[in-house]
Amino acid sequence: MLGIGKVGWIEKDAPKAGPYDAIVKPLAVAPCTSDIHTVWEGALGDRKDLILGHEAVGEIVEVGDEVKDFKVGDRVIVPAITPDWRSEAVQQGFQQHSGGMLAGWKFSNFKDGVFAEEFHVNDADMNLAIMPKGMSLEQAVMLPDMAPTGIQGAELARIKPGETVAVIGIGPVGLMSVAGAAILGAGRLFAVGNRQVCADLATEYGATDIIDYKKGDIVEQIMKATNGKGVDAAIVAGGSSDSLGQAIEITRPGGTISNVNYFGSGDTIPIPRLAWGNGMSHKDIRGGLVAGGRLKMEQMVDLAVYNRIKPEKMVTHVFDGFENMEKALLLMKDKPKDLIKPVVLL
Ligand code: NDP
Ligand code: ZN
Repeated sequence: MLGIGKVGWIEKDAPKAGPYDAIVKPLAVAPCTSDIHTVWEGALGDRKDLILGHEAVGEIVEVGDEVKDFKVGDRVIVPAITPDWRSEAVQQGFQQHSGGMLAGWKFSNFKDGVFAEEFHVNDADMNLAIMPKGMSLEQAVMLPDMAPTGIQGAELARIKPGETVAVIGIGPVGLMSVAGAAILGAGRLFAVGNRQVCADLATEYGATDIIDYKKGDIVEQIMKATNGKGVDAAIVAGGSSDSLGQAIEITRPGGTISNVNYFGSGDTIPIPRLAWGNGMSHKDIRGGLVAGGRLKMEQMVDLAVYNRIKPEKMVTHVFDGFENMEKALLLMKDKPKDLIKPVVLL
């Protein structure tokens, strides 16, 4: 990112590992819609000459003296979020916010990201996970961000077996929310999107009803389908600044609205007063940045290895070589009909 709205190539000095850190050479990377918000909406404010990217798997090329569990040559999954584990926020249970709100998200936010020949990982023992032998790079690179973000959407929604759930937005994040909701036991499961490629995979991941937001108001469509009752939980994993309000409208009193969408612009997000029971609906609005860290990655590995999730099915475009990075990033910006997620192999 050269500045807001501008990307290109840049030369930087190679990063060095501190005593607890590692330097990783990427083997596969993927652009995230968050990179698009960051660059083209300036959603984090101005960033100059910042290396983008926070989804990578790679090979360790250097470790600090104090790193115990990883060595040069290990193939690792690198979480998008790499918290400072020696922080008060960790003791409060929110490592994502170690060092300040969202500050556990370092790559392509506060420090150079992973779209580089080598990148720096703080606290390697706490922030890396071994990539299992035999796991494909396409599958592995869906684990740093897409799988845990989407699944967190389902966790935050506090889904109980048999409950009715709606996922608004079924790009790669929302698709993983659909998969997560199915794992947690959703009964009827609405998936809101438009592109056929996403709708088909949502159905495969467990959605029971596809709602096309281009074919009418989604609130009306879901309220009609539920005989006016609405859903127990709604997960916002995409959409516009109106999506949160729509989630509130379709959720029953006492239900939960979970947000993992990154609202990239505007100062405020509307809450519909009446649908929120004039403030007294007991509808719980929650939202969060993906957790990151080693344990989360190891759990994602197990979900993939034991066939609970198949995130590799979201990879619709595979490129070879660093020179295609920009093309992959721009695909993520333009979202053509046949795209869910592009990956670049290095
Ligand atoms: P995509 O852009 O690929 O998917 C967005 C989805 O929303 C698509 O299904 C799209 O449908 C749908 N959509 C668009 N407009 C509307 C609308 N008006 N109403 C309902 N649905 C709509 O995004 P990703 O899946 O890659 O990412 C989703 C969000 O998650 C992004 O904001 C991203 O930045 C954020 N994110 C958050 C993280 C966290 O830690 N919380 C981590 C990673 C990402 P269609 O395209 O078919 O028209
Ligand atoms: Zn991301």
